[in-house]
Amino acid sequence: MAQRRPTRQVTLGSDHHGYVKIGGDAPVSVQTMTSGYTYDIDTCVAEINKLAAGGADLVRVAVPEKKDTDALKEIIPQVKVPIVADVHFHFQRALDAIEAGVHKIRLNPGNISDRKQVEAVIEACKDKGVPIRIGVNEGSIIERRDKQKRMKELGGVFSNNKHGHFLAIMIAKLEEYLDIFYEKDFYDIVISAKSPDPNLCIAAYTEISKRFDHPLHLGVTHAGPRETGSIRSVVPLGHLLASGIGDTVRISYANDPIFEVEDALEMLYCLELRERKGVDLIACPTCGRIQVDLFTLVQDVRKVLAEEIQLPIKVAVMGCIVNGPGEAEGADVAIFAGDRRGIIYVQGQRVANVKEEEILEALLAECKKFEAKVLAGEAKLGEKVVEIAPPDPIGDLGSGFDKIAQGDVDKLSDLTIGES
Ligand code: SF4
Repeated sequence: MAQRRPTRQVTLGSDHHGYVKIGGDAPVSVQTMTSGYTYDIDTCVAEINKLAAGGADLVRVAVPEKKDTDALKEIIPQVKVPIVADVHFHFQRALDAIEAGVHKIRLNPGNISDRKQVEAVIEACKDKGVPIRIGVNEGSIIERRDKQKRMKELGGVFSNNKHGHFLAIMIAKLEEYLDIFYEKDFYDIVISAKSPDPNLCIAAYTEISKRFDHPLHLGVTHAGPRETGSIRSVVPLGHLLASGIGDTVRISYANDPIFEVEDALEMLYCLELRERKGVDLIACPTCGRIQVDLFTLVQDVRKVLAEEIQLPIKVAVMGCIVNGPGEAEGADVAIFAGDRRGIIYVQGQRVANVKEEEILEALLAECKKFEAKVLAGEAKLGEKVVEIAPPDPIGDLGSGFDKIAQGDVDKLSDLTIGES
């Protein structure tokens, strides 16, 4: 992993909502956006709280109408996470949102035609210490009002140099917008340059990071449904983050935004850019050796452990003795299966051999016991990596799986439970 690119730092929030730092030495933050109507106060509060509980560091809301910014006055005191107002077209919505106590503004100066209006928003943000994200997203930088200019700009899109063309427009617009802010001596700025095209995202953020030292809000806009949008998003965002570029991320799905938060966090955990909260689960993909319903087991394990375990315990759910012992060696808690049974290990020690229908309960019990030990200072996460000798699949005792299949379940179970 490359070193994080040094950037200025902006801070937003309040004593009541907590503070989030973006850029500088701050951890990469995760944000998302509500999908309901902001004016529907109770629903909006519930959605913000759900997203915050799921791990969102800040939550953005749309404020297209006055009734939305009016609602913000009631919403903001009821939530415990910093709120960002998403403003387009109407500068007055930004002023109203700032008045309502919003912690950050997302602004596209390109769709606020009067420069004086942009300046009024800057002044109001400066007064209240509210940072502004300037978006130069691909979809919003092409001229829409001036038909001739639009045709000229769109012409470049179909040239052979699509990325270069968009990049040039993005950078030019960004410089133009930033001048307005600099002239007002305003530097509490975060920049985004999103596109649905992953390659353009990589190119745009890379170029912008070379030219400006403002923190960057990474995102692939309109990424689509989660099934395909996750790849479309994580490939360029992961590439940028691993290159040291990016200070806050938003993944955009046509789905419940809680998935955006879950996937953004998992991406940051995998890159070790955030300290993991909750279980770190790995599982085998299964193959022709599988002898339990591992897909169902893995989903059940994921759900139950997410609810019951707080510590980042590494758990491995493996289908058989081919890769099971190897993964069990590095995991805190591991199970590998065979012939409708599962053998469970805790930091390399075999602790149980149970029937398939008991695996979930037994695994949860072992995870809870292990978590309690860690909390009591009697064990450490990831401390022991013990070499595990797998059950011999062909010896006298064997893995047991052949004998289990022959009906010798109880005896074999007696022989193997607790052995190490
Ligand atoms: S652990 Fe076993 S069942 Fe799972 S993929 Fe590997 S060989 Fe197949």
